[in-house]
Amino acid sequence: MAAYGNTSTKRLATCHCDLQLIFNTVIKKIDNSIFCGYRSMKVQNQAFENGLSQVKYPDSKHNKLPSMAVDAGPYFVDIKNTDWDDHKAFALFAGYVKRVADELLDQKSITHRIRWGGDWNSDGRTVDEKFLDLPHFELVAI
Ligand SMILES: [Zn+2]
Repeated sequence: MAAYGNTSTKRLATCHCDLQLIFNTVIKKIDNSIFCGYRSMKVQNQAFENGLSQVKYPDSKHNKLPSMAVDAGPYFVDIKNTDWDDHKAFALFAGYVKRVADELLDQKSITHRIRWGGDWNSDGRTVDEKFLDLPHFELVAI
């Protein structure tokens, strides 16, 4: 069974308890890394300048504390890393994350839906999106 390392654990600890439960469930089946939870003003505005985020501080769900968003992606043991070019691997991972979140919501273990940054309108398609943020997951009020 995979487990988060120290860095991922610390980042996930900055996130809302629903995100913590979702990803602590996902890690039991799919190895993955947490890239970002909460983002400070400096880090958020850097992400904006670099084109990695569409918004400046404090308008991102990463700027709430606890963070209402998390960036995560699959970790591959053979390359000891994430394969950022493998967009389909991110989509496969996101499908699993959404399934876990749906089950936890059905069990009333969490109180939010989850939205993936590859399918902002949650219609199951990615080609209709202008901005793809494949590692991004955020909580949405029901
Ligand atoms: Zn994000």
